[in-house]
Amino acid sequence: MLAIDYQEQLIPLLKTHFGYDSFRPNQLEVMTDILSKKDVLAIMPTGGGKSLCFQLPALAMNGTTIVISPLIALMKDQVDVLRANGIAAAYYNSSQPQEEQQQVFEDLNTGKLKLFYVAPESIAQFETVFSQITINLIAVDEAHCISSWGHDFRPAYTQLGSLKTKHPQIPIIALTATADKATQDDIAEQLSIQHAERHLASFNRPNLYLDVRPGQDRIKQIFNFLESRSDESGIIYCLSRKNTENLAEKLRNSGYEAQAYHAGMSSELRTEVQEDFINDRIPIVCATIAFGMGIDKSNVRWVIHYNLPKNLEGYYQEIGRAGRDSLPSHTVLFYSYADVVQLRKFISNSENATVQYAKLERMQQFAEALSCRRIALLNYFGEHVTQDCGNCDICTSPPKYFDATVLAQKICSAVARMKGKEPMGMLIDVLRGAQNAQIFEKGLQLIKTYGASKDVSWQDLQQYVIQLLNQGVLEMNFKENSSISLTPLAKEILYNKKPVQLATLSQRENLKVKAKETKSSKKGLFEKLRVLRYQIAKEQGVPAYVVFGDASLKDMEAKKPQSMEEFATISGVGEAKLEKYGEAFLKEIKANSTRSKPKIPTHEFTWNLFKEGFTPLEIANKRELTENTIYSHLLKMHAQGEEIDLHELVPQKELAQIETAKLDLPEAQGLKDYFEYFEQKVPYWKIKIGLYLLDS
Ligand code: ADP
Ligand code: MG
Repeated sequence: MLAIDYQEQLIPLLKTHFGYDSFRPNQLEVMTDILSKKDVLAIMPTGGGKSLCFQLPALAMNGTTIVISPLIALMKDQVDVLRANGIAAAYYNSSQPQEEQQQVFEDLNTGKLKLFYVAPESIAQFETVFSQITINLIAVDEAHCISSWGHDFRPAYTQLGSLKTKHPQIPIIALTATADKATQDDIAEQLSIQHAERHLASFNRPNLYLDVRPGQDRIKQIFNFLESRSDESGIIYCLSRKNTENLAEKLRNSGYEAQAYHAGMSSELRTEVQEDFINDRIPIVCATIAFGMGIDKSNVRWVIHYNLPKNLEGYYQEIGRAGRDSLPSHTVLFYSYADVVQLRKFISNSENATVQYAKLERMQQFAEALSCRRIALLNYFGEHVTQDCGNCDICTSPPKYFDATVLAQKICSAVARMKGKEPMGMLIDVLRGAQNAQIFEKGLQLIKTYGASKDVSWQDLQQYVIQLLNQGVLEMNFKENSSISLTPLAKEILYNKKPVQLATLSQRENLKVKAKETKSSKKGLFEKLRVLRYQIAKEQGVPAYVVFGDASLKDMEAKKPQSMEEFATISGVGEAKLEKYGEAFLKEIKANSTRSKPKIPTHEFTWNLFKEGFTPLEIANKRELTENTIYSHLLKMHAQGEEIDLHELVPQKELAQIETAKLDLPEAQGLKDYFEYFEQKVPYWKIKIGLYLLDS
């Protein structure tokens, strides 16, 4: 059976209600299955547009869609967005005031709601309502919460298992960004939708710039980074609670509005910080990984990892909080060996240490990669790509190699002379001839390679040692004090002079420079629109991005719409937002675009005045142009299909005279000949239009 094409039905709804013109990958396929009454399991990355997958079909069907969501913050966010778009939606939860609950019950009961959001804990209360109204779809958002395999297991989700058996006729869509197969199968199993159509979207997030930097001088690097991003929203992930607090304080002391967030804070304080972040009142949050779930904020412009995450799953999830709106966003990972050692210590006390060590190693490999980071990342998640991404630090400044044979010999020799018993820090100190107590205690100042690489900076030497570790020349013995020892390959280098190539540590351009490039419009219209958006959002008590996403503001900045009609073409402007915000934003745009008014062609400008009722002579005076020019503009508009009564401009009698002239002047070269023929008494423009009429 051929699948029905729902595109024609859905596209107008998409524009009317959400203001978008096209679908993101997989959205249409998922919606088609829903409208065909199939169960669906949709696996799409963060920011992939999962909500729309059930919100739009909800509008295309009779009845109400039930959405199960794990957190109040998430429900509230989506309901805010829907309402801003003029869609009847509400959420219910046990902490709402009673009158509000009453109202929601009533609206649901009377079929007023297109979408109804509820937490899994409360769903049982609605069983009777379910049989009284038309339910067209049940959407289980963040569906991995049902699986104990997943990372956010929520016991209440397991109650959802009976939905399918109780209401077999209602299609279920489960949505998650958790890609691994075990969790997917578990979700389908537990929701009894084993036959669900599965849609697995690419996990690539091409708008995220992936940047990995050595972990030295992190604070300084962060300050540089922030200099040109003071009011952009961003998150800095730290390993420890203490760290989040220290860092936030340092930032505050330097005039940045930053707050810490971690699980050790009271829940009121955490909620406050989260709300302040969502509502753009605080741009920067320094957080442990406890922060993020339940944040659908679309305009997080950057994410920094102050410390190395323990695996790539966590890393990807965390950087994924940036750029949900698809606009370019920056991610920075600071990498230091000290973090690796620290993380390994944590792991050693845990149950499934072997798996965790392996994951940490992959994380390290990613951080140390000398080829496209995105390829490494996507391959880890089972997406096999080979094309360099062009949007990571490696692609934008690819490493160059140099003959490092002598350097490698020095390093290997030092390792050999220290009998493979010393950790990296000591190795580097020895090579650089450091004068510290430990060295003297151990008598390491006496070995031959002491001070042999004085000319190389500490940080650079460390990077070279890491490269040798990655090339399998050296190895790190984590179980023994993280000491560094030689592998058989090292012996080739030491005794057989095997050549070694290492990547030069190109003086990476300062984070600041990069940041400035991406932020050219700081003082431009975008900023003005941002301020307006913030004011409106504050008045209405919703997060700023609920009014308009950054993508919409960018579109306004680019197109500078001058009328409501033009404003309606902006991405993210549906009917409701056009009506609610159109005028305010248009006013702001017009006020700021006098100088750079979009150039309209001169003949169209004339045409507009003509339509307003000005005569050609008046227009000529107004525009300081000749009457001839004005008439040629009108002629051009006529040729473009505009309705102008040219016969009114050249009455029949004069047209007949021009026709006679045409017969008398078979050799005429141009208008001038006619002009002379009429003894300069008929203006050029009239001759021109007359000839035009005679020819057409
Ligand atoms: P997810 O739940 O998959 O993480 P969301 O549903 O929150 O993602 O969507 C992320 C952002 O993308 C939202 O701001 C949403 O409005 C926007 N979006 C979704 N679909 C489209 C589309 N087809 N065109 C433009 N923007 C879209
Ligand atoms: Mg979502």
